[in-house]
Amino acid sequence: MSAEATSPGVHGRRRGLPRIDLRRLGRAALLGPASRDRLPDAIGHVAEAHRAHFPDADMSVLHRAYVLAEASHRGQYRKSGEPYITHPLAVTLILAELGAETTTLTAAILHDTVEDTDVTLDQVGREFGEEVRYLVDGVTKLEKVDYGAAAEPETFRKMLVATGNDVRVMSIKLADRLHNMRTLGVMRPEKQERIAKVTRDVLVPLAERLGVQAIKSELEDLVFAILCREDAARARALIAENASAGDALVSTAQDVRRVLREADLAAEVLVRPRHLVSVHRARVKRGELRPTDFGRLLVLVAEDADCYGVLGELHTCFTPVISEFKDFVAAPKFNLYQSLHTAVAAPDGSVAEVLIRTHQMHKVAEAGVVALGNPYAPVPAAGDGGDAPDGERADPTRPGWLSRLLEWQESAPDPDTFWKTLRADLAQDREITVFRAEGGMLGLPAGATCVDAAYAQYGEAAHRCLGARVNGRLVALGTVLNDGDTVQALLAHDTTSGPSPEWLEHARTPSARIAITGWLAAHPDAAALPDASPRPPAAVSAGPRTTAGVVTERPDAPVRLAGCCTPVPPDDITAFQVRGGTVTVHRAECPAARRMSQSKRSPVPVSWAAGDTAGCQVTLRAESFGRPRLMADLTDAMSTAGAAIISATVEPPSRQRVRHTYTVQLADAALLPGLMSAMREVPGVYDVSRAQQPAQA
Ligand code: MN
Repeated sequence: MSAEATSPGVHGRRRGLPRIDLRRLGRAALLGPASRDRLPDAIGHVAEAHRAHFPDADMSVLHRAYVLAEASHRGQYRKSGEPYITHPLAVTLILAELGAETTTLTAAILHDTVEDTDVTLDQVGREFGEEVRYLVDGVTKLEKVDYGAAAEPETFRKMLVATGNDVRVMSIKLADRLHNMRTLGVMRPEKQERIAKVTRDVLVPLAERLGVQAIKSELEDLVFAILCREDAARARALIAENASAGDALVSTAQDVRRVLREADLAAEVLVRPRHLVSVHRARVKRGELRPTDFGRLLVLVAEDADCYGVLGELHTCFTPVISEFKDFVAAPKFNLYQSLHTAVAAPDGSVAEVLIRTHQMHKVAEAGVVALGNPYAPVPAAGDGGDAPDGERADPTRPGWLSRLLEWQESAPDPDTFWKTLRADLAQDREITVFRAEGGMLGLPAGATCVDAAYAQYGEAAHRCLGARVNGRLVALGTVLNDGDTVQALLAHDTTSGPSPEWLEHARTPSARIAITGWLAAHPDAAALPDASPRPPAAVSAGPRTTAGVVTERPDAPVRLAGCCTPVPPDDITAFQVRGGTVTVHRAECPAARRMSQSKRSPVPVSWAAGDTAGCQVTLRAESFGRPRLMADLTDAMSTAGAAIISATVEPPSRQRVRHTYTVQLADAALLPGLMSAMREVPGVYDVSRAQQPAQA
């Protein structure tokens, strides 16, 4: 409980959300509203949870919503025998605990009134305003009498469209489903299974994508218990067995606390038990579980930079398992999740997984969009989001995947196609984040190729795609992208070229598939040709780097800076014409450039345009002696010198020496020498040089 008092949303030992005492709530609800100026007990729990996040919130509107909901549901009962009002109250409490704002909570109390009582949407609008009306409308089911078997798919379609305008609709739906899943035991087994399957296929992936981890993991456990009874029982038995043996992570947590205290780093160190499904997955993956596999350590700190400070201490005082290190602070996941992940071995050889994050990151990790509040309020920018009209939106309340989903659903007119495509789309459970060479990021399903990236970024203009670069190299369009790749789609200027039918084999995203299928259907002659797209010989557009402040002797040729060696003024440069006529500029010492001159390709004379020192991306390598806080000090020095870190790689220390590789963005190339000398001044660093390969995120 002490953890909860200091950091809202942390539930200490127990994963997931606290459950409301339904019987107590039911009794309180039956007594009805107490008096005008005192909140009735039933809504009191909600008010208390809400105040923990919003001390100044106006509770009177919640009170009014409760009075209306209680009166209109009076006489209705849940299958379990509880008064119906216990359900909207429990849903509202789930959202209040996660830090939802007042409007969401008001709509949550009223969410079933229009569907199940005489209350009308107009009445809700009149008494509680347009926003609450919109949210209640968004979660109100379409009637079976009107839609028959299509009612469920069409209800989800309606909810997703409403979510596109206001993500709070989905927050309420997720909490609604969570409470219904918690109380599913009273239903017939066939019905339980049917609901559990829809929850698994649609609601769990939506919770994941919206970053609502607390709801997602509990939903997963509830689904698991219904659909895989034996595995669930086995996982439960393993957890019980481990608990009776005493928690192995508790002593590691104490060691970590001591190390951080000695380093003067203020941090909260908690043991987080894995949830049921997570234990099951770990068992399947590892065969047998070690005592430290039943949970992870969670280290909470105040500031972003402290995350790296803690990391440095842990990697110095324990033996790090470097392959487990992931930096989601510098490169957040597509659902805004941020944390450093690592694993350390204690002297006795036991390995503990550790998550390091700030309190704010923790709130977003647990509650995702629920904690982001009103989507109409200005949203703080997260990560290095692109602002191109067709690109991934950094706006967490309407993320790129949702825009893509809303786009393809329009071209799926019948409920069957929609329902099937929706489940398939959401089944692509793991998303990857790729960087656009032009800046910004794209979220794509795992297994996505350059074709998918091109359509995600450029929409129908991707019909003109000629080729792609991944991490600076020209690759085939069918190349599968990995998390953290930098991708650049090369488009022809010629607007008549179109996709070839083989692209369908490479397209994993519905938006790319639907766009390609549509184009091919509209151009039946082109589809019959062996290569549907007549490839024009030249003119490639490649975003802002096209001419890149470089002067060539063939003035019309498009010029691009090579991604492998990232030349920056005033580097010595050399250039070669590549397929398609583009001139690619390399640093003189780049191995790729050397290979090209060795193969007797004649270089194109190039020079930097005078006075042009535009922004640039550059990769630097720092060689240092390992010491505590090294990474924190380095990253600190780098940001002070004006560098935005895009990705970082830390190689395992060897003989006390460590090598850090950083790919950074500079607003002005002229800042580079200053940045390098600032890094050299960090104690322990003995060399800083330009690297030939970008750092892996
Ligand atoms: Mn409901």
